[in-house]
Amino acid sequence: MIVPAKVKKAFKEALKAQKAAYCPYSNYQVGAALISFRSKVFSGCNVENSSFGATICAERTAILKSVSDGHICLEHMVVVTNEIDPAPPCGNCLQVMAEFFGPQSHVWLANKTGIKKHYLFKQLLTHPFGPKKFKK
Ligand SMILES: [Zn+2]
Repeated sequence: MIVPAKVKKAFKEALKAQKAAYCPYSNYQVGAALISFRSKVFSGCNVENSSFGATICAERTAILKSVSDGHICLEHMVVVTNEIDPAPPCGNCLQVMAEFFGPQSHVWLANKTGIKKHYLFKQLLTHPFGPKKFKK
């Protein structure tokens, strides 16, 4: 698997973000970093909440940061967990990603030792409900 240099840089940012994970209930630390088509990196961590339903995943934290900074066309997502077999984004995150990532966008799954898996977004969410559903 060839990992582009910019994805390696995003992986380092995801590792940094993972350290900030607020997860007192699950102790499941997740870091994420995405790269916009304008080559800007945004990172995020999971932020749990005692009401559980208000918990925000690391991927969505990074997406909200990028969108609020005007970057809505996103190219790469790197997700870091402590799992030997790295975890993919959850269903909620995939749905949010469908809004800003294209079918050919890249999703990289990693643990602390490095990037272990690569998918195209369309492989993880094969039939997304997205913005095109509203276009006539
Ligand atoms: Zn999620």
